[in-house]
This record gives sequence, C-alpha cells and structure tokens, in this order.
Amino acid sequence: KKIRVGIVFGGRSGEHEVSLASARAVIDNLNPEKYEVVPIGITKAGQWLLGTEPAKLIAAGQNVAHESAETAQTFTSVTFTGDPTVGHLIPLEGHNKLGDEGKLDVIFPVLHGTYGEDGTLQGLLEMANVPYVGCGVLGAAVGMDKEKMKMIFESAHLPNVKYLVFRRNQWERSPETILDQIEAQLGYPNFVKPVNLGSSVGINKAHNREELEHAMRVAAEYDRKIIIEQGINCREFECAVLGNDEPIASVIGEVIASNEFYDYKAKYIDNQSKVIIPAEIPQQTAEEMRRYAIEAFLALDLSGLSRVDFFIDKDSGKVYINEVNTLPGFTQISMYPTLWQASGLPYPELLDRLIELAMERYDDRQ
Ligand code: ATP
Ligand code: MG
Ligand code: MG
Ligand code: MG
Repeated sequence: KKIRVGIVFGGRSGEHEVSLASARAVIDNLNPEKYEVVPIGITKAGQWLLGTEPAKLIAAGQNVAHESAETAQTFTSVTFTGDPTVGHLIPLEGHNKLGDEGKLDVIFPVLHGTYGEDGTLQGLLEMANVPYVGCGVLGAAVGMDKEKMKMIFESAHLPNVKYLVFRRNQWERSPETILDQIEAQLGYPNFVKPVNLGSSVGINKAHNREELEHAMRVAAEYDRKIIIEQGINCREFECAVLGNDEPIASVIGEVIASNEFYDYKAKYIDNQSKVIIPAEIPQQTAEEMRRYAIEAFLALDLSGLSRVDFFIDKDSGKVYINEVNTLPGFTQISMYPTLWQASGLPYPELLDRLIELAMERYDDRQ
C-alpha cells in the first residue's frame, strides 16, 4: 500500500512564491511507486485549497514575476473559502475526502517563513495527530526567530556575529537614540533584518546613518522585532543537516552571491549566483562547520532537517554561524537537496529518509 503524503505549500508569508517552486520539485521527486501525493495549497490570503486547485496555484506561481502579490489573490475566486482550520485540512465530504479510508499518513510542510516554517502549522498538525516532516513546534519557532536563535547559539557557545534587537514601538518612540546606539555598538556596515522572515525579504545592508534609518523603517514594516548585525566582510557557506536525535551533516557548500550580498534578487531572480560544492576550504574548517551545524541543530531542538549557514570573515579567517533554516529551499537546484546529492544521497532518497524520520519522531512522541 502506498504512503499518502500531504504536501502543504504556498502560504501567507513573503516567501509564498519560493514555496510554490519548492513544492513542485518535492512532488516531482517523490517516488510514485511508493507514494500517493495529495497537494494542499494555501493562498496568500490564507485559504486552503484541495483537489485540482493546488496545481493551479503552482502554475500561477510559474507564470508570474516572483514579487507579484496579486498572483494567488486572483485565485481566491476559484477556491473554496473560509478559515484555515482543520476542517479544511481534512474536509468532510466530496472526492477530496481525506478522513477515514483517505487518511493522510504523513504531511510534508513545504512552506517557508511565517505561518509554516515557524511552528504554527506544526502546532496544528500536533493537534490533528498526524506525523509530519521536519521540526516540531519549538524547533520551528526558535529557528524562525533570529533573536531567540542567537540567544540559544550564545548559550551553546557557537560563534555569533554581534547584534542588537529592538521592538517596533521602541524604534518609533526614539529613532535617533536607537541609531546612535547601533552606530556606537556595531558601526558600519551593518545588516538590518526583520526577526522572523527568510529569503532575505526585508533585509538591507546599511553603510551610513541615512541607509540605516531607511533599513530600520523597512524592517519595521515586516516585523515588530528588528535585528541589526555587525556586517562581516565574508564568504558564505551552507551545511545540510538530516536526522532527529542523531543528526548527520553534509559536505559544505559555498555560495557566491551575484549582488553585494545574498539578497532576494541574487537568490531567485537573476540566476547569477554560484554554488561551489564541496567548498574550497581546508578540511579542518569544513569539519569545524559540520560540528557547529550539528551542535546548532541539537541546541535548537530541531528535527528532520535544517540548513545551517555560516560566514568566514575574509579579514580574520574566523568562522561565524549565521542562522538555521528549518524548511530550506527545496527546488531541484536548491542548496539543501544539492548538498545531500553531493554527499551521496540523491533527492528521491532524501525524501524517503525525511518521511521515515517524520514517522520515527511521531512514534517517539507517542
Ligand atoms: P534565508 O533565505 O537563508 O532564510 P534570511 O532571510 O534568513 O535568508 P540571512 O541569511 O540572515 O537572511 O541574511 C541574508 C543574507 O544577507 C546572507 O546570506 C548574507 O549574504 C547577508 N548577511 C546577513 N547578515 C550578515 C552579516 N552579519 N554580515 C554579512 N553579511 C550578512
Ligand atoms: Mg529561510
Ligand atoms: Mg533564514
Ligand atoms: Mg540565510
């Protein structure tokens, strides 16, 4: 009997379009001999789609420029509407029936960013008592919150970049004081980010006070928490981690961004960024990163998968941990599956393993 896998994708985050591309690749790589795929799309407005509708969502994503916020909105007219509740996840009637004989064996959330990568969907799935791929509620939530993530990195003695965090209300109340404080403590250049996001959405590099003020305003539009980090003159590296309580780390890959930094355009639009796998760094440095990657995975209580990102300071040679991504990009050319491919685990087998790990985690928690 085939395993029924629900692929949840799209979603309400700024990374909606990236998720459509990831979901397409996951669906294409799931072995049809073993799995029956049930696509479950979520529009930008938060409506859940079943049956033939999710395919339209994916198709719309392919035809429209990445940043167009209108894409999914136009589809809300042909979807069934209502709140994103379990009732829609497991509809009670029609040929899309997922209850009883049509029960899903496992859910694969292929959502990036808020409302999907951040513990919210994971909480819903815990409530529904379904096994699911990836991190649990806590791991997903701390993996998405760059402030809490860094606090945990610190307590695990992982090498963090220096940073400051402000709430939106603090920023609005006394912007000049905050700009002074950032200048005094971090200097330039620095990176200003919404605390809970990904794909570089809302991130700006500031070289002076004017740019910093602008960057703070942009980040404050995306999130009520803003993180500012010391800018490192760096090379960038990524490591893929796979497992539950005994995770393993892949070979290291280097990303060479096509822009001044690895921004949204360099990631998804211009196709000019390059990836070098395995990274051309000393064996010892690669081992250090792999060790940090596993330590970070355990410190944040992650499970299933995660991509752990690093910097090497070009001036001092020091290795820094940048962040984790608990649901990293999953397209055919994305770093996470490519790193495993290079480590001897082809994409379809990686998916087999992730589904096994989801089942194992579910059993461990019973
Ligand atoms: P992802 O798509 O990987 O989830 P993200 O939105 O979570 O990304 P970050 O990885 O924190 O964002 O930052 C995006 C990019 O900005 C980095 O890949 C790097 O190019 C640059 N960057 C971020 N922080 C720093 C820093 N402190 N020093 C130098 N470059 C930085
Ligand atoms: Mg991300
Ligand atoms: Mg990220
Ligand atoms: Mg990143």
